[in-house]
Amino acid sequence: HGVLFSEVRRPCGVMVLVNPQSGRGQAMALYNSHVQRMLTEADIPHTLFITERQNHARDLVRSADLTQWDALLILSGDGLLFEVVNGLMERQDWEKAIQTPLGILPGGSGNALAASVHHYTRASPVWGEDLLTSCGFLLCKGLVSNLDLVSIRLSSGARVFSFLSLAWGFVADVDIESEQFRQIGALRFMLGTLLRLASLRVYQGKLAFLPAESKSGPDSASSPPADSRLPDHLLAPLEQPVPRDWTLVEEREFVLVLAMFQSHLSEDLLAAPDARADDGLIHLFYVTAGISRATLLRLFRAMQSGTHLDCGCTHLVYRRVRALRLEPLSAAGVMTVDGERVEHGPVQAQVHRGVARLISA
Ligand code: ADP
Ligand code: MG
Repeated sequence: HGVLFSEVRRPCGVMVLVNPQSGRGQAMALYNSHVQRMLTEADIPHTLFITERQNHARDLVRSADLTQWDALLILSGDGLLFEVVNGLMERQDWEKAIQTPLGILPGGSGNALAASVHHYTRASPVWGEDLLTSCGFLLCKGLVSNLDLVSIRLSSGARVFSFLSLAWGFVADVDIESEQFRQIGALRFMLGTLLRLASLRVYQGKLAFLPAESKSGPDSASSPPADSRLPDHLLAPLEQPVPRDWTLVEEREFVLVLAMFQSHLSEDLLAAPDARADDGLIHLFYVTAGISRATLLRLFRAMQSGTHLDCGCTHLVYRRVRALRLEPLSAAGVMTVDGERVEHGPVQAQVHRGVARLISA
């Protein structure tokens, strides 16, 4: 743990990034009614930046003079932080830039990281403005901890950095289909889930992973994809078979594949209760075909309290892994990273422990 606002060195300030379109479009109202006062009362100098379009925040942090800022604070959903993380990683000085403390305040409809950060304090769950207050309190305390990033290689060869999740199948479909209901806030995921259940389908693909308990290092026979920044030493090139110490999942028919890097999938879905910001783990869940609608609904309801693994459902598999490869067998489909749609196709991912920094408990 580091301390953000020390007595010794006065802060230069916090860059506050707000997406006015996130959630119900209420982020600016939340800033005016809560956040600005909170920062002022805590004596934290801050400058407001309101995004005007998608990727505006990404461009801003890519070119910002980061020596001016003690922290970047995001008041939005997870999507805006995804832009910020990737903007930082695109910089020439990425190694230093990604060390800039990041803070999250829930202002969107998908506030999974904010809910996770609150969960890590071990306090009982809260929602809406109470979650904002809790995250604001953590921000004013200014404790900084490490944050894992997961490097995700998409089929085009593009690479993105993720702090939250990789989803395919049911969860990815719900994520994207429920965007039309962002007016109802976090409830959009529950409504989307119910609608998707009505048209439940099976997704064909191949899944392989490196179990976390695997002691062996990277396979020396295969050379990882070349990178100057954060090399993915656990991955073999996509054209080659996975390294020998990986596990190949026999099933080829899935209802969902969900890789979680934090505890919460959304404000009210506690998908990976044991996950921590810097545990160096990918919490991999998959649900195989053959599950009934009723059982799947029961799983999602149990997930609200994080008890889905206690349901005794044989179609649900949970593994702690460090890397994975997922190859959908059909061309069309939806894949999301941190709730944002990415190109659909074969992907590989590997966790990089604690490379970013998060204002947290
Ligand atoms: P929500 O949780 O409501 O989805 P996000 O923060 O995830 O909120 O933002 C949703 C999307 O809006 C993201 O893809 C983000 O990049 C994009 N975005 C950011 N700023 C703007 C803006 N000013 N206008 C439109 N879209 C934006
Ligand atoms: Mg979002």
